[in-house]
Amino acid sequence: MERPARDPLPTTADDATREIEADVATRLAENPDFTCRVGNFGFIELEESWGDEATIINTARVSTSNQRVADVAAFTDRERQLLYHLLAHNHGTPFETVHFRWRVIAPIFVLRQWMRHRIGSFNEFSQRYRQPISAYFIPDREARTVGGVEVMSEAQLAEYCRLMDSLQQFYERSYAETCARLAAAEEGGLVPRLAGGRNPYRARARELLRNAMPVATYSDIYWTVNFRSLMNFFDLRRKPEAQTEIRQYADAAYAMFLRRFPLLGATMNRVLAEKGGEHR
Ligand SMILES: Cc1cc2nc3c(=O)[nH]c(=O)nc-3n(C[C@H](O)[C@H](O)[C@H](O)COP(=O)(O)OP(=O)(O)OC[C@H]3O[C@@H](n4cnc5c(N)ncnc54)[C@H](O)[C@@H]3O)c2cc1C
Repeated sequence: MERPARDPLPTTADDATREIEADVATRLAENPDFTCRVGNFGFIELEESWGDEATIINTARVSTSNQRVADVAAFTDRERQLLYHLLAHNHGTPFETVHFRWRVIAPIFVLRQWMRHRIGSFNEFSQRYRQPISAYFIPDREARTVGGVEVMSEAQLAEYCRLMDSLQQFYERSYAETCARLAAAEEGGLVPRLAGGRNPYRARARELLRNAMPVATYSDIYWTVNFRSLMNFFDLRRKPEAQTEIRQYADAAYAMFLRRFPLLGATMNRVLAEKGGEHR
């Protein structure tokens, strides 16, 4: 039961999921060079960045001179060599002055690995205030095969999808039942009728029910990170040993980064290659 690679919305798709899918379609159209779909429902966008190679050089030069460069176009070999020298010799702090904000829609098991990167900030979709995203990760044929050997069969995939669907159905059915009980309790005057604001009964029901959602469920985050930490992420998560799914996001992020910062990207690649990176 191989599902097509872009069949993201299950028949049970809720409003939050449809809203996200529509938002992704808009972002892809508006920002085509810095957006990318990943997997069956995943997405990554470089929404904003602050600073550039000139920021790094100007920051570093506070210790030697106050000679500023306006931008990368004004770079001579001196600036290019300094950029390389700083990075190659672990003069790290100037590289912390350039920041990136990424929007990432990924399965929770990918985000769990991502969040191990502690130097950076995360903001995540709330399963307390919102219904979980009803799309879940579906491995395609390539993801289910190692060296030509199928490690998850079609039959197992079909069972996996049934299990995921049933967990979502459990969530939706249970939440609807709780809401019906709450409405009856309000009607009977057993709980206060709440006008507007957060409903603590519903929020608690969502808090408990989200525990049944599997790590294959997609979530939606912002990741704000400086270049030094981003380089570490690329180094670790673009390696062949990194899990395929997070590597796909890291590769997509890397392509966008390189498009926006070709000189910094080339300098990073040179330094990583000299340090023995195998994945360039
Ligand atoms: C292929 C692969 C397999 C992995 N397998 C596992 C696993 O099985 N189990 C597991 O738990 N993790 C695993 N990890 C996660 C890994 O151990 C790191 O937690 C993760 O890659 C984040 O890297 P980092 O600590 O360099 O990044 P960040 O947390 O972003 O830190 C960046 C840098 O800041 C410095 N730093 C940050 N915090 C501290 C601190 N508290 N003390 C001192 N220096 C600090 C370090 O120099 C660090 O490199 C795996 C990672 C990869 C790539």
